[in-house]
Amino acid sequence: MSGEGDLDRFKNLDFMKMDRRTFLKAVGALGASLFLQTYRGDIVRALEFAETRIVWLHGGECTGCSISLLNGGEPDVLQAFSRLNLRLAYHEVLLGQQGIYVDGKMEGTSELNSEILFEEVIAEKGYILVAEGAIANGPKGTGKYCFLGGKSYKDIFRRTAENAAFIVAVGQCATNGGVNSADSEIRDLMDFRGVAFTMEDRDRGILTEYGLEKPVININGCPPHPDWMLLTLAAVVLGKIKVPDDLPYVLDEWLRPKIFFPPDHVIHDNCPRRGYYDKGEFDTVVSGPKCLWKLGCKAPYTHADCAIRRWNGYHSLCPQSGSPCISCVSPGFPESSRPFFQEIEDAGIVGTSIDTVAKVAIGASLLAVGAHAVRRIAIKEKPEEKGKQPEEKEKKSEEKPEKEEVMPEEKPEEKSETAKKDQGDE
Ligand code: SF4
Ligand code: SF4
Repeated sequence: MSGEGDLDRFKNLDFMKMDRRTFLKAVGALGASLFLQTYRGDIVRALEFAETRIVWLHGGECTGCSISLLNGGEPDVLQAFSRLNLRLAYHEVLLGQQGIYVDGKMEGTSELNSEILFEEVIAEKGYILVAEGAIANGPKGTGKYCFLGGKSYKDIFRRTAENAAFIVAVGQCATNGGVNSADSEIRDLMDFRGVAFTMEDRDRGILTEYGLEKPVININGCPPHPDWMLLTLAAVVLGKIKVPDDLPYVLDEWLRPKIFFPPDHVIHDNCPRRGYYDKGEFDTVVSGPKCLWKLGCKAPYTHADCAIRRWNGYHSLCPQSGSPCISCVSPGFPESSRPFFQEIEDAGIVGTSIDTVAKVAIGASLLAVGAHAVRRIAIKEKPEEKGKQPEEKEKKSEEKPEKEEVMPEEKPEEKSETAKKDQGDE
């Protein structure tokens, strides 16, 4: 989301003629509510004959992503889906019809029986599969640690994924395993997987286990912001992001839309407590007004637009309401953020060296990280460095710039057209 000037500019554009780049800027600037209100008429025209079916599955998770979507408010999910001509063909939590018995027997019509409905829907093929929740692969690859209606979720997910046009994985569990894949005594036994990744490991995504290649968009977060989910769906159903062709240009290396998880922006940049950070004024107990860095805030290396878009009706975000950011959108979450409420330079990250922290928690965008945080991490004292003067350590850290790998924003052939269009707009 941007300033007033941008809002006015985007409100007056012709939706039908928007290219992908302008569309993405518009959704980033306006948010779901304003975007759908502003372009309501245009969207209806664009979708006159098209209906997109969504099959929304739930695996190992808390249903928080669906709750977040339902908390979206304006528009609510029904308004948004109706405006986007999305048909929620199957959603285990929101569907009303769940296995009705008549005279002691299961009623055999899809209106009344979710299992029959599910089989009919996936037989039609070509829907968008929205995956919420991790997929249990254990024990020993059987998937038996997560059963739904007498079937393993691993099998349900595979069959649904095979017939999907593409997959949108929502929430940390589906994208990277989330809390299911956190360190524990039963982690390896349960063997929960994300769709395309398990934590940072692409080779352990469940699609790799199946040997199935499908385009995947990851909407990280625990839970994700309703805008991230709704506007990503809007972008693909309106044809502004073509799947799979456009994905390498609009997603980051973790398959997250760069418009919501900007490689060159961290939450700390726009935190309302930032002034305190810059003055070096930190809270050391909760409920104070100052910077939360010493209480473990991870926002200085977290790439998401939480501080610009804000949550709960665009009003607040975690550090604003008093909770340190726990970097719930990072691919290694929760492991890469633990311990949650301890300053990183004091605590390190459980089970990792500081070099691993840089790779895991900060990802491939170190150059884009708030300079203060990078410096703090980079100059973390190594045993052999103890005793050196502070300026010597600082100098050493600056001699070793980290490399940044960011996907190109646009296809090469589109750059000149977009540039021309931007000049025209101005
Ligand atoms: S460290 Fe956290 S609380 Fe402090 S300014 Fe940055 S984002 Fe805000
Ligand atoms: S501020 Fe941090 S913890 Fe809160 S939603 Fe954003 S990424 Fe997650």
